[in-house]
Formats: sequence, C-alpha cells, structure tokens
Amino acid sequence: MLQIGKENEMSGKFLKRNAIIDTIKSEERMNSLQKRSDGPRYHVDTVSCGCPDENCGAFHAIRADRPLPTARQADETLRARRRK
Ligand SMILES: [Zn+2]
Repeated sequence: MLQIGKENEMSGKFLKRNAIIDTIKSEERMNSLQKRSDGPRYHVDTVSCGCPDENCGAFHAIRADRPLPTARQADETLRARRRK
C-alpha cells in the first residue's frame, strides 16, 4: 500500500519523479523480500525522509515487532467474529 500523497503532505515536500520511482522500487523490494522468506510477514512502514531534497523519496522499514497474521490466522479471526 503506497501512500505517497499522504507522505508528501506530511513532509511538505514535492517529490521529483525519480524520488517517486525510488519509493515505488523500495516498496517492491520490500514486498518481494517478504514473499521470498518462509518466516512470518511483518507490517511495513513507509518512512518519509525528512530532508528537503526533492530527489529523496521515502523508504520502507519492516516492523519486526508487528507481525502480520498468516492467511490461516486471518481466516480464523474472521470466522470467530462471524460467530459472535
Ligand atoms: Zn532525504
């Protein structure tokens, strides 16, 4: 999930095209990294660099303290909620 517009607003910075491309590439890298690993997936933060450089976009950081539920766990959660 990309939130460039939001990040932009937050940092008050207009990103140049290559900075946006860098940001998208960073997210794609993070996604494939997580897909390739057999372990649990984690929440990923999109972190906007605070510097005023228009050529500098956002990067992505894994939140190891926030594991995402597995497909099976998510399924069980949904089913449990439906029963209530
Ligand atoms: Zn920067």
